[in-house]
Amino acid sequence: MYLTSKIILHPTPQQEITLKSLISIYKNEVNECLGKFISNKKIIWIPYSTLNRHLPWESKKEVIKEASKIFRDGLRRKSDSQNTHFKGDYCKWHCDSFTLDSKLNLQVGQQSRLIVEFYADDYQKQLLSSGYLTSLKIEKTNKKWYCYIKILKPDPQPYGEHVMGIDLGIKVPAVAATSTGKIRFFGNGRQVRYICTSQTSRLSKLMRNKNYGLIRKMDHKWGNRLLSIDHQISKSIIDFALRENIRMILLEDLNFIQKKSDSGKKISSWSYMRLKSFLEYKANKNGIKIQIINPYNTSKRCPNCSRINISTSRGYKCSCGYKNHRDVVGAINICNYNLS
Ligand SMILES: [Zn+2]
Repeated sequence: MYLTSKIILHPTPQQEITLKSLISIYKNEVNECLGKFISNKKIIWIPYSTLNRHLPWESKKEVIKEASKIFRDGLRRKSDSQNTHFKGDYCKWHCDSFTLDSKLNLQVGQQSRLIVEFYADDYQKQLLSSGYLTSLKIEKTNKKWYCYIKILKPDPQPYGEHVMGIDLGIKVPAVAATSTGKIRFFGNGRQVRYICTSQTSRLSKLMRNKNYGLIRKMDHKWGNRLLSIDHQISKSIIDFALRENIRMILLEDLNFIQKKSDSGKKISSWSYMRLKSFLEYKANKNGIKIQIINPYNTSKRCPNCSRINISTSRGYKCSCGYKNHRDVVGAINICNYNLS
């Protein structure tokens, strides 16, 4: 299993110049290779010696890997090859071209090295020492230098014995139902909606006044708030799963969720995608399996008698007398999916 650690670099002004130039060389070289693939209409062999000599040897491998990936993705999406570009503003190093102890020691060019100071909190330090460092990526965002290090760790022991179903929604971000009969609500849909609607009205006002600087700033802040909410929700779901001894978490296929949600326009699918990816990451780390299921009728079937009822409000009612919150019914049905 791969994990990523994020540390903050403190390069000197001189080192910053070197890093910046490496990033632009990396970008150019990826686009050069991509151009060759596009004009040949296939991935061709590119000798490392033809790539810019300022790049460390191992980074050249990453350049070709990156260009091949973009080329293949472009083919898959059948996008116009003229518009296929590498847009990243970063440079990658392979495990043989860097070391990390009290400082980050990077190979730059064929001979020289860059020794950069960095900051990592206790969590990141522990993460870094927990496995084998495979590659790193350096990027400058919001005037800060970040370094993302990919760590290869042995897979954790499988955890737990019970099953849990999760219904993702808008009114309530997540509802969990376990095979032991426990129900739990996570997050506050009203809070998320409030952030979205208040932000949308403020944004349109700024748009009218053409205040683009403020718009960019706000967009960033808004994104960060939603991001931290998704982190909180996924963390509390996994904490709950660990306490309840859960072996497997069942989630609905997201492609169906969009069609299902009536007010789906307010929060687009990326929000689900992100919550799902956080859940997957945190579950994997703890040895809990994630399974994606087809949500056919999960919100309509009665958990008591299996009749299909269409509920128009939040409440779910069945002629057999069963009554519950609609999202709870969804979560129970998702949880029972594998068992039935
Ligand atoms: Zn019923």
